[in-house]
This record gives sequence, C-alpha cells and structure tokens, in this order.
Amino acid sequence: MRCGYCYHGTGQGRNGEGNGRMDLAVAERAVDFLISHSGDQKDLTLVFFGGEPLLQFPLMASLAPMARRKAAEAGKTVELAITTNGTLLTGEIISFLDEHRVGVTLSIDGGAEAHDRFRRLSDGSGSYGIVAPNVRKMLRNGSGKPAVARVTLAGSAGDVVGRVEHLLSLGFTEVGVSPVTTDDPAFQLDEKEMDRLLHQFRLLAERLVEAAGQDRLYGFSNLIDLLVALHQGERKHHPCGAGQGLFSVSPRGELYACQRVTGESDFRMGSVFNGVDPERARAFRAAAHLNRKEACRECWLRMLCAGGCYHEAWVRQGSPFLANSHMCRWIERWIELGLEVYGRIFLTGPAYLDKLAVYRGQTAVFNHFYD
Ligand code: SF4
Ligand code: SF4
Repeated sequence: MRCGYCYHGTGQGRNGEGNGRMDLAVAERAVDFLISHSGDQKDLTLVFFGGEPLLQFPLMASLAPMARRKAAEAGKTVELAITTNGTLLTGEIISFLDEHRVGVTLSIDGGAEAHDRFRRLSDGSGSYGIVAPNVRKMLRNGSGKPAVARVTLAGSAGDVVGRVEHLLSLGFTEVGVSPVTTDDPAFQLDEKEMDRLLHQFRLLAERLVEAAGQDRLYGFSNLIDLLVALHQGERKHHPCGAGQGLFSVSPRGELYACQRVTGESDFRMGSVFNGVDPERARAFRAAAHLNRKEACRECWLRMLCAGGCYHEAWVRQGSPFLANSHMCRWIERWIELGLEVYGRIFLTGPAYLDKLAVYRGQTAVFNHFYD
C-alpha cells in the first residue's frame, strides 16, 4: 500500500533502516531478548508490526507457537498482537489468528469514501474494496479475540461519528481515532478541524454515556482509555513505555524506542544481539522525564499527559523531549470532557467504571474499597 499520510513516507520519518524483511533467526532472537530482559514481569506482549506484517505470515506462523512455548518454559505468558492493513487476510490467516488468540488492530479509516481518500494501493486505487470483505470474513468468524479498528484522520476531521458507527457496525469491538502525525501542513488538522474533532468526540461521548446507562460497552477507544486512566488515578512521569518497557526491533535486529521510530538513529537503543545500550537508555529516560519539560511545569494535566507522544513531539516540535505544545489547548478540553463524562457515570452507575478498568486489564477500584 501507499497511504498518502504514512509517517514512513511523508515529512520527517523516512526510515531507511526500518525497511526490509526480518528473517526467522532475528525474530527468534527478538523473542529470546523479550523473555530474558523482562525481569520479574510475568505477562509479556509481542506485537507484529510493519509495514505490513502479514507479508511475512510464514515467519509469524513459526514464531507465535515458539514464543508461547519459550515464555511458558520461563514461567511467563506472552500475548500476541498484530497491526495490519487487512489486505492479505485469507481464510488460512484468519483461522491462525483465531486459533492463536492474536489481538488484531486493523488500520481502516471508515467507509469506502473516507478510507479510500488516503489508504491507496501502489497503483493509486482505493483499498476498501479489498479490505472490507476480508474484515467481514474475519469478524463473522468471531472466535478470536475482539478486533480493534484504528482510524487515522488527515486534512480534516469529517464525520468521525459516522466513521466510528460504520466500523462498529462491521463488528469491531472498539474503534480508536487519531489525527495523523506529520510535519506536512497538507495533512495536519488545523485549529478549526481540531475543534470539529472535539465536537465529534463529544457526540461519541454521549453515546458512551447512554451505553453506560444500559450497562453496554460502547467501543470508543479514546474515551475508554481516558476514563480508565482517570479511574485508576494514573500518574505518569513519562507519556508511554517507549524505550523502557517497550522496544521495537528492526529487520536487522536493532532496538528502537517504539514502533513508529524504527530505523531512526535518534531513537536507537542497542540490538537484540548485544542487548540494550545502557547509556542510551539511561539518557533517553532522563531526557524524556516530565520534570525536564519546562512547558509542562505548571500544567494541571501534567501527570495525565506527561508531555505527549515522543514521536509526535519529534515531528512537530523538533525533539522527542519537548512538550507537544501545539496540542495543549486541545488536550485540556479533551480531558475536561473526560472528567465530565467520568462524573456523570460516577453519579449514576459507578460500577461501570470498574468494569471498564477490568476490561482494560486493570484491577477494580471500587470493589477493592467496598469489599
Ligand atoms: S497539556 Fe501541554 S503543558 Fe500540559 S502536560 Fe500536556 S504537553 Fe505539557
Ligand atoms: S512514542 Fe508515541 S507512538 Fe511511540 S509508544 Fe509512545 S505514544 Fe506510542
């Protein structure tokens, strides 16, 4: 595929080292690295991420059972997940994903019109006509783990509610929505579009509140994540686990801070053959700490936001260690919306918040206090 907005093809982030195919020896070494560097952590996660990882399905088919076996031998478990564009989902692959309980995140932008605007094949034609039947087949099967759709917005917000509703109606359990990360103004959402996006998120929030009243899940991932973070009283000094609990592995076996920056020398952290470079990892962790972000010092959201995604900051602010200041106003209004929704659900049915937390793999908070 040649998606017009891809961060590997536009603006900053044309990563040469990240391209290529991984062979089985490197992949096996990556699994060994994961297990041997996980310390006391019992539950591990291995994500197949590309490019398009299903181009390497035979490798994945060999690696998945091997990773499970090696983890079990070490007294651990490994969750398997994949992020895919859905073009190569055959019956055989769908059965494999079901059988091995691989969590699927599918990059799909909505219905045909919205999706084909940017998600095109190398000949310039839209990909929805290929992806949608594959997705229906996969979701009809329904025996695997719940699948999540990932929508990327570029240029304008458009009808986000329509996109989310369409994808939920296809059978996705959840839909997450993000503006694209790019330094190309043609793809960025300007202030007016970001306002529109917030309005659309507010409409989706109303649907979630309604679903909460009926004790149903409404799979709007962005808000579920925020509600669970609020419910858990999340306090972060780093925005995410990149370069700490999370690493990506390039086809050559080099380690990078996260999947989006694979191949970028600024984010290189060692290799699966020689281990994490301790100096680079220490320097990254220290430079990325919230207390080093001058712009965030007085912000009331600092422990929830922690300055935001390093990749976004690298592309938009010129350094992964700077705050995503271009987003502050929007983030504040988004978190205010989350707090409002949290309060409304708390007043009418607080157990629902516990359920969301458990659904996200966290422990219940209320039950703990009330037991
Ligand atoms: S909203 Fe802005 S100032 Fe506040 S923590 Fe996030 S990036 Fe920093
Ligand atoms: S740096 Fe950004 S893209 Fe990478 S793991 Fe963190 S939040 Fe996600």
